[in-house]
Amino acid sequence: MQCRLLRGLAGALLTLLCTGLLSLRYHSSLSPDGAREAAALGPPSPLSPELQLRDVFITVKTTRAFHRSRLELLLDTWVSRTREQTFVFTDSPDEGLQERLGSHLVVTNCSAEHSHPALSCKMAAEFDTFLASGLRWFCHVDDDNYVNPRALLKLLKTFPQTRDVYLGRPSLNRPIRASEPRPHNRTRLVQFWFATGGAGFCINRKLALKMAPWASGSRFVETAALIRLPDDCTVGYIVECKLGGHLQPSPLFHSHLETLQLLGAAQLPEQVTLSYGVFEGKLNVIKLEGPFSPEEDPSRFRSLHCLLYPDTPWCPQLVAR
Ligand code: UDP
Ligand code: MN
Repeated sequence: MQCRLLRGLAGALLTLLCTGLLSLRYHSSLSPDGAREAAALGPPSPLSPELQLRDVFITVKTTRAFHRSRLELLLDTWVSRTREQTFVFTDSPDEGLQERLGSHLVVTNCSAEHSHPALSCKMAAEFDTFLASGLRWFCHVDDDNYVNPRALLKLLKTFPQTRDVYLGRPSLNRPIRASEPRPHNRTRLVQFWFATGGAGFCINRKLALKMAPWASGSRFVETAALIRLPDDCTVGYIVECKLGGHLQPSPLFHSHLETLQLLGAAQLPEQVTLSYGVFEGKLNVIKLEGPFSPEEDPSRFRSLHCLLYPDTPWCPQLVAR
């Protein structure tokens, strides 16, 4: 049902965009809860060109199995600093989460499995909710990412609004290849760069609007099915193969597919996203001494958060002598 709703929303959105009538009231009457709330955030005043955090729309992809084990950590840490513009996309209702997130929890109708269509279904919901928000930047992350809001804002400020921007960490050191079905049973071999979803990526509104014909409503899932690749690859395909754009690689986004230990402590505050995971049976986490022990804070996200935001109530407070 949600997908039908989103499809309807996207169709209506496109019509509105074409006629230049994107109005908050319209969204409020059509959108699901999250999108309605998101629409209430924007659009920002064009008279204030200096980018602010409230101009950035952040989506977190999660699933039922990770509500407790992953999401609570994010809510306690970085999401507590970006509450206004962060929306969590999941596949199952959860009273506890609903209580903490309110309308910022978007329960999609996407299936709770790790299949390409299920993951693309969530990405489509994230994309559509961003379009409805009217905000200037769309940043997607996974539920095992830490987002440093200050570093994110600093990075996004370096891009002029006049450019199309697709920003993230390339997952491979070469473009990926895909076979694109063509009319009359033909196929075309295409290659393109894409930002790995596990490190998070950002797209500005100018580019997102151009992506809509392949990415809004049901079309994202259809595009992903066409090239038979996961959601993050599909984003790269749309930007590079359909629009002739380019991934802007950034070394400041990190997934657990790289050795996170290699990041020096002094570099940590500059990183836009971080992650944690298990690799060959060992924890792959950033190297950070305290304040919490590895037992108390296996991901190191709590320790990192206290380094970045020492005024957080649950961080050990320095006692004035
Ligand atoms: N995920 C999901 N549905 C699933 C499994 C995973 O939406 O059935 C999400 C998960 O919440 C995370 C992302 O997909 O945001 C990547 O999952 P995970 O970190 O477990 O796998 P990875 O691809 O990083 O190895
Ligand atoms: Mn992961």
